[in-house]
Amino acid sequence: MKLVTFSHSGTTRIGRVDGDQVVDLAAAAPDLPTEMVSFLEAGESALEVAASCSGHALPIQDVKLCAPVLRPPKILAVGLNYADHVEETGMKRPEIPMIFNKQSTSAHPPHEAFHLPRASTALDYEGELGVVIGKRCRHVPRDRAREVIAGYTIANDVSVRDWQLRVQTMTMGKSFDTHCPMGPWIVTADDLEDPHSLDLKTWVNGDLRQSSNTKNLIFDCFSLIEHLSTAFTLEPGDLISTGTPGGVGIAMKPPQMLTEGDVVRISIDGIGEIENAVVAEPPETVLIG
Ligand code: ZN
Repeated sequence: MKLVTFSHSGTTRIGRVDGDQVVDLAAAAPDLPTEMVSFLEAGESALEVAASCSGHALPIQDVKLCAPVLRPPKILAVGLNYADHVEETGMKRPEIPMIFNKQSTSAHPPHEAFHLPRASTALDYEGELGVVIGKRCRHVPRDRAREVIAGYTIANDVSVRDWQLRVQTMTMGKSFDTHCPMGPWIVTADDLEDPHSLDLKTWVNGDLRQSSNTKNLIFDCFSLIEHLSTAFTLEPGDLISTGTPGGVGIAMKPPQMLTEGDVVRISIDGIGEIENAVVAEPPETVLIG
């Protein structure tokens, strides 16, 4: 099953994708939560209702797809998790997963432009397999990690390289607003038997930049869950962005940073694709509250 968050007629809610249609779950199964985190928290019984209800379908081209989890409780990302990417950065292969956070406010829709920041021109893409957590959990052994995975999605771990590399932590360089495009949906775990055999490709303006397979992950999805849950509770809706293969812009010779008007497309077998253009960060100062 493919689960989406979408906007239509002024409200945002969740749906199930069937071919080129979205079943509006708020209408087809009114007892279900209409927001993805609450829906995932409702567990197996909610998933069964979502999978079996019918009617209330909208053409997918008539809705606006949002990030499947609008505001993931946590976005955890992994640095240097493909050997060819380790090599192109000139860094050492990590013996322990290199974990960092992207702020949850960076979550962004699968087909909407992300920002070239006012503060930098060193903008880069990172195509990645995303794991969405489905159950609150702690101390999950690797061989039980499947039980806590709701499904899989695509993420672009957009990176502002100068901000990422000029200080000791990646927190700011990885977390500019709009810098975690994700989606287009969550493919539930039962529909994706083996997350470690999926081709992953990234194009910029139609040029193939990254081409790998998730079998090349140094620390696979299950090991990452074991590692992360050693320290803290994982919760429904948390996103683990599992790392990017070789072929990022900063490692090209000469480096090729993204600029206004560029279009980044990422595809992963068995999931789909996301495509986002680059736009200049809007000029206004935003005061909220
Ligand atoms: Zn990354």
